Amino acid sequence: MKISIIGTGYVGLVSGACFADVGNSVLCLDVDERKIGMLKAGRIPIHEPGLDALVTRNTQAGRLSFSTSYDVAVEHADIIFLAVGTPPDEDGSADLSHILAAARSIGQRITRPVVVVDKSTVPVGTADKVRAAIQGELDRRGAQVEFAVVSNPEFLKEGAAIEDFTRPDRIVIGSDSAHATQLMRQLYTPFNRNHEKLVQMDVRSAELTKYACNAMLATRISFMNEVANLAELLGADIEAVRLGMGMDPRIGPHFLYAGMGYGGSCFPKDVKALVKTAQEHARPMRLLDATEQVNEAQKNVLFEKVARHFGGADKLRGRTIALWGLSFKPNTDDMREAPSLVLIRSLFAAGCKVAAYDPVASEEAARVLLAEHGPERCAGMLRIAATAADAVRGADALVLVTEWKEFKSPDFGMLARELAEKAVFDGRNIYAPEAVAEAGLYYEGIGRRARA
Ligand code: NAD
Repeated sequence: MKISIIGTGYVGLVSGACFADVGNSVLCLDVDERKIGMLKAGRIPIHEPGLDALVTRNTQAGRLSFSTSYDVAVEHADIIFLAVGTPPDEDGSADLSHILAAARSIGQRITRPVVVVDKSTVPVGTADKVRAAIQGELDRRGAQVEFAVVSNPEFLKEGAAIEDFTRPDRIVIGSDSAHATQLMRQLYTPFNRNHEKLVQMDVRSAELTKYACNAMLATRISFMNEVANLAELLGADIEAVRLGMGMDPRIGPHFLYAGMGYGGSCFPKDVKALVKTAQEHARPMRLLDATEQVNEAQKNVLFEKVARHFGGADKLRGRTIALWGLSFKPNTDDMREAPSLVLIRSLFAAGCKVAAYDPVASEEAARVLLAEHGPERCAGMLRIAATAADAVRGADALVLVTEWKEFKSPDFGMLARELAEKAVFDGRNIYAPEAVAEAGLYYEGIGRRARA
């Protein structure tokens, strides 16, 4: 099939490469010339395991190409995916300007029947707006072209995006057109050999499904963080509680981890957007309001622990805190809404220096931190280290922020020698408290007793 993907970010590039890999002819478009320039030169603008080889293989086979030209993209395709960003607007609602701009660009150019597929996460009713935007452009130029708008929300996870896309838990197709549904079924057949993963529904339900999933997952995280904070006061260990809870099949073991609060490019904005949609319909979602509030507070829990350990925030001035991990989760360089940014903000405000190391997100983190704090402050307060060991050299304490694999089994003896105040704060509960304490280190996790 001939497919164009509008928006070549995490979702667009992964989807495009995976569709190409099963034999489709795919053109990925973006308005970002730098991104398309890199891809044309054989470089991948994001970090996603396996993506480099996948893109190279399919580009070389002539099945995957890149362009900044809507003329080329619209001419190429029978199916056009919208995978542009839908960032939060100032009031929390999803900003649809990129989606609608893309829809208009399509409407200005189509000359033959096409199926337009909304893959971006968009509020209920957006497919109607996309349809109206395309039809408006057709009317303006007096053209009559048949088209359908389908909702096909994406559920891939950064860091495991290719695996998620090629072996999906589910493929949600929201469609009111039999022809478009048939085409989508055919397109997804290679990823759905037994047709058991595809769920077909009306467009609005498909749009809501995506938000409901992310809101549920975010709520699970906030729930566990609240239980963890209570466990700490009660002398219980959230890790034991988590294991006991996860064995109940009605609960399941996934997504029960207490930590520093959720971040990333999806949960925060999608929860906000659903809250906003509910408000607009005079049906406030109180549970989601609480989910957000708990999350905001949780992002500062580690800073509070560090401050308490050193006798208060006012005693932190001049200290150096080492951070392991900066990205919002492992295996990605995505820094959007990363909890590390909140922690660094609080540490800087308390006069602390930060020595940070991340296996892949260092460059992106430095860019984001420079934009937020300015070059002068960053020059004096921030050191991006080249290795994990380098980050702890000369630091007072270590905060484990992102559970990258290479942090899982560190040399605790080395940490005890390097850290002036011999303290480890484990924001993801990846260490066995006793093992850390045995090395002569102070240990504090989330939702468990501190050890010394
Ligand atoms: P991204 O920011 O990585 O990529 C979006 C791309 O769209 C950018 O490269 C941008 O330049 C481009 N763009 C913006 N306006 C454009 C236009 N008018 N024409 C062409 N290109 C345009 O975003 P992402 O993380 O890939 O997310 C895309 C959508 O998918 C969002 O709605 C997001 O919520 C959803 N989603 C993301 C994930 C994820 O893990 N990242 C997972 C599921 C769903």
